[in-house]
Amino acid sequence: MKIFLDIDDTLANTSGYVKEKYNHKVYHPNSSLIKRNFYLIKDYFVLRHVRDNPVFWTELPLLDHSKDLVDYCKNEVGKENLFILTALPFLFYKKETKEFLDAKHAKTQWVKKHFNFIEEQNIHVVYAREKHQFLTGKQDVLIDDSQKNIYNWKNSGGHAILYHHGLSLEDIKIKIKKLT
Ligand SMILES: [Mg+2]
Repeated sequence: MKIFLDIDDTLANTSGYVKEKYNHKVYHPNSSLIKRNFYLIKDYFVLRHVRDNPVFWTELPLLDHSKDLVDYCKNEVGKENLFILTALPFLFYKKETKEFLDAKHAKTQWVKKHFNFIEEQNIHVVYAREKHQFLTGKQDVLIDDSQKNIYNWKNSGGHAILYHHGLSLEDIKIKIKKLT
């Protein structure tokens, strides 16, 4: 069994940080299409700022539960079976460009800074639509705040836990326990 953890708005307070730094709330992938379309232009400019700031991803603050959650997962499956599976937005980062490689590096640095026991080979920086390709067996668990990622993962045969603000660390632990 492997556990795959998302970063943005699952382990890191990415929306909170964007809001504080750019005074704008980028619309979450789970928000309604109307809302996302309405704010598209503003989101676009903010995400361009993010892309042009190479250290943005290294500076993200942790969410309160993250240290305990990652430790718990490590104890459940062992560090060799614990993975970070994080995405960069397709529209702003083309693979093999400097921006993509810099952001990938910055995200890797963030993981090393907070969870130095996670080996680099266990850190995957991809596009959201590729996440389900990392599933290796039906015991694998994805913990992610995007409904779409959860849906695709389950559709490929894995277990998944949708993270949201209302879910406490204890709630997540219970859900993991049920799967192990
Ligand atoms: Mg996320």
